[in-house]
Amino acid sequence: MRRSFVLAALSALALHTSVNAQQPPAGGGRGRGGGRGTPIAPGESCPAGTTEIRPRSCMAPEFAPPSILDYRPKSTLVVPAHMVKTAKYPAIDFHGHPQGLLGNAQGLDSLGKAMDELNIRMMVSADNMSGDRLKNTLASLKTSEKLKDRVRILAGISFQNVGPGWAEKAIAQLEADVTAGAVGIGEIGKGLGLTTKKPDGSRLKIDDPELDPIWDAAARLKLPVFIHTADPSEFFKPIDYNNERWLELSLFSDRRYPQDRFPSFETLSAERDNMFRKHPKTLFVAAHMGWIASDLGKLGKMLDEMPNVYTEVGAVLYDIGRQPRAAHDFFVKYQDRILFGKDSFQPEEYPYYWRVFETKDDYFDYYRDYHAFWKLYGIDLPDEVLKKVYYKNALKITPMLPQNGWPK
Ligand SMILES: [Zn+2]
Repeated sequence: MRRSFVLAALSALALHTSVNAQQPPAGGGRGRGGGRGTPIAPGESCPAGTTEIRPRSCMAPEFAPPSILDYRPKSTLVVPAHMVKTAKYPAIDFHGHPQGLLGNAQGLDSLGKAMDELNIRMMVSADNMSGDRLKNTLASLKTSEKLKDRVRILAGISFQNVGPGWAEKAIAQLEADVTAGAVGIGEIGKGLGLTTKKPDGSRLKIDDPELDPIWDAAARLKLPVFIHTADPSEFFKPIDYNNERWLELSLFSDRRYPQDRFPSFETLSAERDNMFRKHPKTLFVAAHMGWIASDLGKLGKMLDEMPNVYTEVGAVLYDIGRQPRAAHDFFVKYQDRILFGKDSFQPEEYPYYWRVFETKDDYFDYYRDYHAFWKLYGIDLPDEVLKKVYYKNALKITPMLPQNGWPK
């Protein structure tokens, strides 16, 4: 809408100024006022390449329109702007993927420096580590004075060959990983439900009864289960010009889930919720706000129905920041159920989260254009809500995290 308006305004402007040589007008000037445009019937939309300039009247821009890649209008809005480089309270990144940085002194150094600058006091590595890889990483961590108490690791579960005998083996491995130092389980990846197969070739459903013993073991061992299910719902839809993620889907072929080859978003969500319901004593953290941050009413219903479920905000800032009033109210209402997490480790991206959570700034840029064709707004969370989202909720559900020294 905004884009169409600006294009129409540009063409109007062109009538009154000498046009630069790069973008000569395609035709002669037309008079202002009525008579322009092609009429459409009520309820009809404008033909491709045109935009609605008056009710039921469509017009094509005089200049060749830029592609969505090249159209980068600069906002003329002048409003207070508060950049937030450092979180107001120490944060726990519950969705950390520091990956290679944990294994050597140089990586640990650069991670520690970035965490200090951002006020991330603790990083929870959700890199699905288990066995020797987990032990080696923990050993490397112990060599870092700065980070040995500031990084904790979630244990991974292997969903290969789920069948008779699988659960006993998986639980024994999990218990060994906890003895080694794991503080939770995760990140259970989107492959569960989407692509992982059972030995007979059938799809391993998220609520498969053969998985039940591992979720019960998590409750017994007091391990929160951090789980990523499905992906944005648009990835499961036809890739047409109404798809909000058209550009992303066009850029990344592995994000396309054509419905003749993959289960639907709804099927995966229903299996996940069924699994949550079957294990009320197990604490689950639905990563990425369950991929329903664009429908906070639905997410609220899920949290209302299932007191054992928490959620995490990684990689869905574009949905939080485009609905500042609804998101503010949601975070206040569910302040005990939301955890901070970032997902992909890019130090320069964290301040966008701080700015959305902590300020009431209007209309500012997001960090990835291909995710979102819109701007963000601050949701201005009260201090007590910030503390819960940044660290208190993670400490509450993860008893093995270092619990001392946090602000009250
Ligand atoms: Zn992740």
